[in-house]
Amino acid sequence: MTALPPGSTIGMMGGGQLGRMTALAAAELGYRVHVFTPEKDSPCQQVTDRATVADYNDTTALDAFAKAVDVVTLEFENLPAEALDRLAMSKPVRPSASVLRVAQDRLLEKEFCRKLGIGTAPYRHVDTPAELERAVADLGRPSVLKTRRLGYDGKGQVKIAASTDPGAALHSFKGAAAILEGFVDFRLEVSVIAARGIDGKVVSYPVVENRHENHILATTIAPASVSPAVAAEARRIAETLVGALDVVGLLAVEMFVTRDDKVLVNELAPRPHNSGHWTIEGCPTSQFAQLVRACAGLPLGAVEPFVPAEMRNLIGDAANDWPKLAADPSAHLHLYGKAEARPGRKMGHVTRLKR
Ligand code: AMP
Repeated sequence: MTALPPGSTIGMMGGGQLGRMTALAAAELGYRVHVFTPEKDSPCQQVTDRATVADYNDTTALDAFAKAVDVVTLEFENLPAEALDRLAMSKPVRPSASVLRVAQDRLLEKEFCRKLGIGTAPYRHVDTPAELERAVADLGRPSVLKTRRLGYDGKGQVKIAASTDPGAALHSFKGAAAILEGFVDFRLEVSVIAARGIDGKVVSYPVVENRHENHILATTIAPASVSPAVAAEARRIAETLVGALDVVGLLAVEMFVTRDDKVLVNELAPRPHNSGHWTIEGCPTSQFAQLVRACAGLPLGAVEPFVPAEMRNLIGDAANDWPKLAADPSAHLHLYGKAEARPGRKMGHVTRLKR
């Protein structure tokens, strides 16, 4: 296994807070980070001295970026996979474009899980109003219509309730390919972040519970209060998927735990994940340090947590509480350097360790 020596440069596709926290972890191990993002003064750019501000389709900028870095990773998944294909012609891209292609598409994600015998919500591929009508008849109401691509934080999805006109819901997607999912009456939502190194070694962080408000993650509780059997199953699923997808890096797997303790995969993200922020203080190796280790070809670090933890997102105006949080000795406060606190925007987070 050849590891990148300290002083090497990790190329980061995407400039948000996930890139920022990865860059901070990279600095601890002596690496530099060069960020590629269309956004000026991005959260990631603020903590690194190297940035390319260009469109993800700008091939001239991509080629220059590839020359300037030693390895490429990503913190944002709605990138054109072709950009990663192009970068991969000259530098290792971890995780690869093929992982991104699956994780970008809710239909491919579910098909991938099912082939491995991993459960998901029941689903139907729907492109036309007639297909949707049949799918609603099959899966019943309520059900959830989602765009196959580019959805996040509840965007690109409509609940088909008793009185919803499914045709109008599909029309609102303006021709985007869609799937209909059966409604899962879950007991709780959980996630597991698995990591895989270039030697194929896999580790996973403990299963955590995620509570959402307005479709956005509000709180993560680590570990989740689930039975040892459910915890083991959730970890097994994440470890199976990270290997089957041949990921080098991280794979966050969001899952539903049903009332009868079945574990169903909802979504995959091949990058650091909001539900893993608690690992900065809670674990010997944070998810960000783990991503740096995986893509630099270092051995993966220890993950078993020191103590239970709770992470709360600071969304929109909630970040205005920073003076109070900064004065609270039990709060580990993280702010992302975003100038404008728009509603729904993730401005920072707070982790509290439960000693
Ligand atoms: P997603 O964008 O797929 O992560 O969905 C956002 C949130 O909507 C999830 O975290 C769930 O709370 C809810 N949700 C999504 N899909 C379903 C489903 N099939 N059944 C019930 N709730 C769902």
